[in-house]
Amino acid sequence: MSAKTIAVLTSGGDAPGMNAAIRAVVRAGITSGLHVMGVRRGYNGLLTGDVFEMNLRSVSDIIHRGGTMLYTARSPEFNTKEGVQKAADMCRKLGIDGVVVIGGDGSFRGARDLTGAGIPCIGIPGTIDNDIASSEYTIGFDTAMNTAVQMIDRLRDTTESHDRCSVVEVMGRRCGDLALQTGIAVGATTILVPEVEYDFQRDIIERMRFTQKTGKKHFIIIVAEGVGHVSELADSIEKQTGIETRATVLGHVQRGGSPTLRDRVVASEMGYTAVELLNAGKSNRVVVMRKSEIVDLDITEALAMKRTFDVDLYNIAHKISI
Ligand code: ADP
Repeated sequence: MSAKTIAVLTSGGDAPGMNAAIRAVVRAGITSGLHVMGVRRGYNGLLTGDVFEMNLRSVSDIIHRGGTMLYTARSPEFNTKEGVQKAADMCRKLGIDGVVVIGGDGSFRGARDLTGAGIPCIGIPGTIDNDIASSEYTIGFDTAMNTAVQMIDRLRDTTESHDRCSVVEVMGRRCGDLALQTGIAVGATTILVPEVEYDFQRDIIERMRFTQKTGKKHFIIIVAEGVGHVSELADSIEKQTGIETRATVLGHVQRGGSPTLRDRVVASEMGYTAVELLNAGKSNRVVVMRKSEIVDLDITEALAMKRTFDVDLYNIAHKISI
């Protein structure tokens, strides 16, 4: 009887550390006697059969690289009943007995549906936003935070030299974690996140005026992507305070770069765990971090969880960045 075959794919937005997770899945799979197929461009690759057999050396020299060697995509066709059925049929045709999906909540919904169509799936959280309710940590978050901090430190040099104010947009459409962490790390005067309503006068202008009176001459305001409007905010701040104010959108630079130690280690552990779950006959599970430990949860239960924002840390940030 031939060995079981599993496949690995990356889906949705890319994140640094996805390669480390792919490497772990491939190595753990092969050393436990499985065949491992790489699927290109997320669920699209399952629809078209764009897969290739991987060996131990297929994942050499990728642990330190950002992006994903398997490429990633959003697949509207897969996001239909017919699409899921077509992908499941393709898996059966190719002899794929299980799939490891590295991505965000959207990708996990796909994994749940594919499991429902008879192909056991395991999810691994990979997104720089840290916006997955079931997991304290998502692969790519640490690298993105550190990239953002490096960029804002550079901005600070020029902001300080000119006595300016910089309004900086960092990623995070629905989740302010990246803004909160980087905001604390760069000593932002104010941090705006989608989870907390803000008042322009109280939270920006009054804070700037207060710190100005104590001698502060340059300011950094961090704004999560989901709050947006950084150019308008910068204009309004300049009008009200007379301080020259510039808007900067960090954008996709936050997605790239060599993954940090933390992302490489967490990705390796999660990738290994995903293969262990498939080997144990489990399906419809997602590998997550809870209380700093790597554990697994039912995908459907994980998807129903509600995110919590660290309001205490947010309050600390505003108390000490003054
Ligand atoms: P992320 O995984 O980063 O959250 P998306 O939300 O774009 O990214 O989802 C990635 C892909 O997962 C989508 O292009 C689609 O193919 C699949 N997907 C998303 N939502 C669903 C869903 N409700 N059912 C089935 N597949 C889905």
